[in-house]
Amino acid sequence: MPKIAKVIVDVPTMQTDRPFDYLIPAVLSDTIQPGMRVWVQFGKGARKVSGMVVAISQHADYAGTLKPILTTLDYAPVLNPELLALSQWLAQTTYAFWITCIQTMLPARLKVDTDKWVHASATASPQTLKLLGAQAELALAELTPQALAPVMKAVQQGELTVEYRAHDRARVKTEDHVVPLLDIADYDQLLTELRKNAKQKAHLLNALMTWVTRAETPAVKQVTQTIPRTQLTQAAKAGWLRLEAREVYRDPYPQLANQALTTALPLTPEQAPVVATVGAAVAAEQAKTFLLEGVTGSGKTEVYLQIIAQALAKGRTALMLVPEIALTPQMVQRVRGRFGAAVAVMHSGLSEGEKFDEWRRIQRGEAQVVVGARSAAFAPLRNIGICIIDEEHESSYKQADAPRYHARDVVLHRAQSAHAPVVLGSATPSLESRARAEKGVYTLLRLPHRINQQPLPQVHLIDMRQAYQQGGRDDFSAPLLAALAKRVSRHEQSVLLLNRRGYSAFVMCRECGYKVMCPNCDISLTLHMDTHSLRCHYCGHEEAIPQTCPSCGSKKIRYYGTGTQKVEASLNQLLPQARVLRMDVDTTRRKGGHAKLLKAFGAHQADILLGTQMIAKGLDFPDVTLVGVINADTGLGLPDFRASERTFQLLTQVAGRAGRADKPGEVLIQTFNPEHYAIRFAQAHDYEGFFYAEMAIRHRGDYPPYYYTLKLTVSHQTETKAAKAIYSLAQQVTAALSPDARVLGPTPGAIARLKNRYFYQMVIKYKHEPNLGAVLTQILDETQSSVKNGFQVAIDPEPQDFI
Ligand code: ADP
Ligand code: ZN
Ligand code: ZN
Repeated sequence: MPKIAKVIVDVPTMQTDRPFDYLIPAVLSDTIQPGMRVWVQFGKGARKVSGMVVAISQHADYAGTLKPILTTLDYAPVLNPELLALSQWLAQTTYAFWITCIQTMLPARLKVDTDKWVHASATASPQTLKLLGAQAELALAELTPQALAPVMKAVQQGELTVEYRAHDRARVKTEDHVVPLLDIADYDQLLTELRKNAKQKAHLLNALMTWVTRAETPAVKQVTQTIPRTQLTQAAKAGWLRLEAREVYRDPYPQLANQALTTALPLTPEQAPVVATVGAAVAAEQAKTFLLEGVTGSGKTEVYLQIIAQALAKGRTALMLVPEIALTPQMVQRVRGRFGAAVAVMHSGLSEGEKFDEWRRIQRGEAQVVVGARSAAFAPLRNIGICIIDEEHESSYKQADAPRYHARDVVLHRAQSAHAPVVLGSATPSLESRARAEKGVYTLLRLPHRINQQPLPQVHLIDMRQAYQQGGRDDFSAPLLAALAKRVSRHEQSVLLLNRRGYSAFVMCRECGYKVMCPNCDISLTLHMDTHSLRCHYCGHEEAIPQTCPSCGSKKIRYYGTGTQKVEASLNQLLPQARVLRMDVDTTRRKGGHAKLLKAFGAHQADILLGTQMIAKGLDFPDVTLVGVINADTGLGLPDFRASERTFQLLTQVAGRAGRADKPGEVLIQTFNPEHYAIRFAQAHDYEGFFYAEMAIRHRGDYPPYYYTLKLTVSHQTETKAAKAIYSLAQQVTAALSPDARVLGPTPGAIARLKNRYFYQMVIKYKHEPNLGAVLTQILDETQSSVKNGFQVAIDPEPQDFI
């Protein structure tokens, strides 16, 4: 009986979003397993594509003649059965292609690359043949734009044909090692036979004898510090030794490699019951979800570490998610410091090779603890015993592009099948999670006090409506400037937050109001002083800062808004005695830039750390006694029902950076809305108060957590086509919904045009709609056939942005 492999091919379209049948050749019948990547021929041109085996069966669903699998890319499955099932669940719940989900779950190095090659067709003219020169074929990617133009023309005329060729990028890094092949007596004999002046050979023979005695096989890299490589090659030829390539892992944190491990701290009376309660669920293998609501500095991280230790002691593994921006070297050091080499790290700061190697260490069971950002939710851990999501309220856990998953949902799903408890931790839990705890779906655990009776810092509000009358300068009120100066003179440190949400520096003409806009997107360009240019943050367009207004010619064109660079400049003027470190996307773009700045600040090389949102999280510096917020309000003006929640979270997090050690902390918040409830509750460190106030508002507006939301977006290069499409989709959806559901819009996207495409959207709010999934799948099916006409449809369940 021939066996059939069900394969999801690497062709992300609706028509191909299902398993295809392939015959397993006899030679592969013992090796092929679900979760392996294979090469197959697919489609009209029988083009070679990669695919993923998702099942093996005796039965074919396809009645025609089956093609065989060409070969496998992997020796062992890269997705285990649990992850394979997860990929299918992910595709269903996020309305994404199955293959897209599979690729999201694998490191980039396991994604097959496709190159385009051209070769002559039968009709090629001598002129066209000349384009190929002496070669039989050309790789399109290697041609210069000038060379490409005539080639493309010949392709269009059918004189050259294009062939797609895929290749695997998984490459393992190896290091050569020296393996002695003889025994001591043999080497000794060779030594006596050497000519007197063969000093290098003598040195090598002596070294070989030492390695044999110690049973060592040293790395060539080390040996060549004293022995030339040519000696090793010659010795290998003579049969004295063998050079062996051994696989090595690229370690993203080599500086942490050989550190002594930290031991568990004695728990405080608040921490102990939390660890005991979760520990009991770990021991009982119960898939319970705990919400750990703990103020900043209450010792949540220590609690996580001790719970993880309990899971490891049971022989199980642990998954810990941290938001990208909180994955500071400080956090990695704390986890690696406790569990050493058992820890693998996964985040966007690693190189592709490092990511691949960390993934393989997990896959092989060599790392039992994973700490990582959003995508670590797919870490190939087996036998998971505990999952932790720190700062569970963070919107960065939601992926904005397909597959539009929320890492929290992925982890909860995995924990269910692994019978493992989940801890969601935060000082400011999301309304969704806190509401579930209120209903008893999650178990609420609290750490209401800081460690060692440290008080939470005093928070003062500064009313910016009066600041200028009272001697404020630029973006600084007089009290904030005075507080900063006081810290500098006392040799204490300050953290200054510039809230960038909904705000950026742009260039505008004071004469005629002209704003410099992106030519591709309906959005103003952002000023970058370091490169003296204007950039579009959406499409990457860049241009020079104009000296005169392109519209009216006036010289009074200048920048508005508060960029970090501008604040830094005014700070240097107003407080020349202060040393300022600026931390934003520009100063942390290079690999390790983030770590370097934090290290410098930790070593007191600066008095003030000035930065955007990225300084609000996870930093623990004992000498920071002042936190200043330059503009608390910018996010409040956004047309987003989460605006208050995000402002409250940000202010609470950043305030938590002050007074974490023995010196008390103080927080100054500059605001134009000192009466706003989000700011008032943040001032009082009152999460529970905020939660109930915000729940009442959400209830009145029919917003989450009372309703689910889903955003449907259509885009097209022609505006009228996009508009027409969204209205007909709105009708189709509305017809399928119950009267309880609400449809907002359709409206043009807040950025109506992006990368030369026009966007229209609608938002559906609903409680229980059994038909919604079916109608959305139908819409995807139908619009896929119109992709040729240039339509793109995106479905975003529980979107984080509504504009
Ligand atoms: P959170 O994650 O809640 O902000 P941390 O885990 O960073 O809090 O703890 C704050 C500080 O308290 C850290 O410096 C940590 O080392 C210390 N700490 C935590 N638990 C204990 C404990 N049981 N005994 C002594 N110090 C502790
Ligand atoms: Zn743009
Ligand atoms: Zn002008």
